[in-house]
Amino acid sequence: MKCVICKYGETVEGFATVTLECGGLTQVVKKVPARVCQNCGEQYIDDTVAGELFSIADAAAKSGAEVDVRHYLKAA
Ligand SMILES: [Zn+2]
Repeated sequence: MKCVICKYGETVEGFATVTLECGGLTQVVKKVPARVCQNCGEQYIDDTVAGELFSIADAAAKSGAEVDVRHYLKAA
């Protein structure tokens, strides 16, 4: 698809590293499936995947973590 940020680049399937701030927690998730603009590098993440990222951060926050870094694992 066409990038909506720069209105020039095309997005390609790839992976992103996403950082979320959630209360006292900094959650970093690597290898998140995303579409990435070849021109400006803007990352587009599916709603389903975004929801998954928030549940990962929520679970880590509840476990008392302040910093959590992990790879994205597709929900079973
Ligand atoms: Zn772009």
